[in-house]
Amino acid sequence: MTDLAAFARDKGVKYFMISYTDLFGGQRAKLVPAQAIADMQEDGAGFAGFATWLDLTPAHPDMLAVPDPASVIQLPWKPEVAWVAADCVMEGKELEQAPRNVLRKLVAEAAKEGLRVKTGIEPEFFLLTPDGEQISDEADTAEKPCYDQQAVMRRYDVIAEICDYMLDLGWGPYQNDHEDANGQFEMNWEYDDALITADRHSFFKFMVKSVAEKHGLRATFMPKPIEGLTGNGCHAHISVWDNEGKTNVFADKSKELGLSDQGRTFLGGIMKHAEALAAITNPTVNSYKRINAPRTASGATWAPNSVTWTGNNRTHMVRVPGPGRFELRLPDGAVNPYLLQAVIIAAGLSGVRCKADPGRRYDIDMYAEGHQITDAPKLPLNLLDAIRNFDKDDELKAMLGTGFSASYIKLKRKEWNSFVSHFTRWERDNTLDI
Ligand code: ADP
Ligand code: MG
Ligand code: MG
Ligand code: MG
Ligand code: MG
Repeated sequence: MTDLAAFARDKGVKYFMISYTDLFGGQRAKLVPAQAIADMQEDGAGFAGFATWLDLTPAHPDMLAVPDPASVIQLPWKPEVAWVAADCVMEGKELEQAPRNVLRKLVAEAAKEGLRVKTGIEPEFFLLTPDGEQISDEADTAEKPCYDQQAVMRRYDVIAEICDYMLDLGWGPYQNDHEDANGQFEMNWEYDDALITADRHSFFKFMVKSVAEKHGLRATFMPKPIEGLTGNGCHAHISVWDNEGKTNVFADKSKELGLSDQGRTFLGGIMKHAEALAAITNPTVNSYKRINAPRTASGATWAPNSVTWTGNNRTHMVRVPGPGRFELRLPDGAVNPYLLQAVIIAAGLSGVRCKADPGRRYDIDMYAEGHQITDAPKLPLNLLDAIRNFDKDDELKAMLGTGFSASYIKLKRKEWNSFVSHFTRWERDNTLDI
């Protein structure tokens, strides 16, 4: 176990950023001088939980964020500071609704059954002007901007700086590209255990935003920041291994698409709970402008609209790109990094337990021929539908923890109510002369 005080002495760290993630994905931190870290490593840093999105009241006792030293990362762009993910504790007990705790519990559940979930994620983001209003590169206007060589080079300073940092951190980054929307990019690194991927996903968002700011830009992971352009997805690639992490138990070359019987049942769980788990993978009002969306300027949304799976075809909710893994294309850039991994394990594990069948595989172009499919559920059309679906899915709620699920549903309903009480221009334009 890493001794954080020794880590600070060794690396010249002056401050630790003790960071936890709340239910809305916000990263909350205290800056603790290295001189004070030894006690904090043991007892945690104190927070008033009500001040963040954790479904606590002002009367609750102090919440302590206890750093997990295994997660510590020295900020590559500010090496005198080190970030460390923390686990929330109240009165000696883990706070059950804190997202990192939800994930840790599910990782342990899976381990009891000899399963170790490994995932890789593909976070997409836009680089905008500092006011967030426009794409930062005025020349980035192509109709099909994906992989645009000229445009990616105009943002080389930002992208290469982030990629260099990932190389130094040992994450195994392997490609960076301009994505399918003007101003949009994606950076990829190697998959790992679900908790490691969740911590890296959190840190990646922090790092991208920080480096963009340093270059006078603003990075956004918002699901659909620009009407008519492709949105920010956050696909997850999933495989499951034995407890030693040596054998991919999803891989079986003799089976359909190289997916083992167990892999099929895990996929079956994702399919079974998809309409409900969208409340977590697509957690904002804006998320539903990305899925179910009309064709974008580039020709395709690249986002799913129905609960379907297929082989190597990017128009479905789940794609099996090769043997021993599958890709969930549903999540978007607003997804909470810990809850994304947690809900994958929760749904997948429930599928393994009841030997869920993923149903028929469709090898069609969903954008052109999707209307022919009548037996696949449509994804929820808005956040309220998704919250209601989640609330009805007792099995998924129990897998994620009833306390967590109740808190999440309560806060998300409040968010929805705040949205619908907001008056829009659309209403005036369409109702004034009625
Ligand atoms: P694509 O754009 O084709 O969907 P990317 O190369 O952008 O794919 O991202 C693929 C992600 O999947 C990476 O994070 C990669 O490490 C991860 N990945 C590859 N193999 C596996 C596997 N067996 N299990 C989990 N994740 C995997
Ligand atoms: Mg105070
Ligand atoms: Mg990709
Ligand atoms: Mg992409
Ligand atoms: Mg992908």
